[in-house]
Amino acid sequence: MFEIATIILALSAVAYVAMPLITQKQTQQQQSSTTRLKLDELLYQQSMLQNTIEDLEFDYQTGKLSTADYESLVSEHQKSQTGIDARIKQIGGISSEELVAQLEDEISKERQKIVPKKPITCTQCDKPLKLDDKFCSSCGTQIS
Ligand SMILES: [Zn+2]
Repeated sequence: MFEIATIILALSAVAYVAMPLITQKQTQQQQSSTTRLKLDELLYQQSMLQNTIEDLEFDYQTGKLSTADYESLVSEHQKSQTGIDARIKQIGGISSEELVAQLEDEISKERQKIVPKKPITCTQCDKPLKLDDKFCSSCGTQIS
């Protein structure tokens, strides 16, 4: 009987911990898919800029662009690239770190609720005991 009660208690504890985590994970997945879209868009813009710069380089090498035009156009595009780079790092950095931190925080909070903080000790000599100890390993007192 005792064992069944323990299993039921353990199962309900697991469900109690897992449920809010699962619901939270779903909303975070929705958030991260929006982030994903923004990232894709930025990465696309970035590759378009890279293509344009390569085109400019080609035009310059084939004599279609003057040195002055080429340099000013390239530096303009590179500025845009730096700006997009910063936004990509911002989006990528925040979301994953926050996700991990939030989950870790949640798990440690739930663990503190379940695991009793007070250790089990012998009533006679105060030596710490294991949960399934029947006698104290130090003084031999029977554990009830
Ligand atoms: Zn003892």
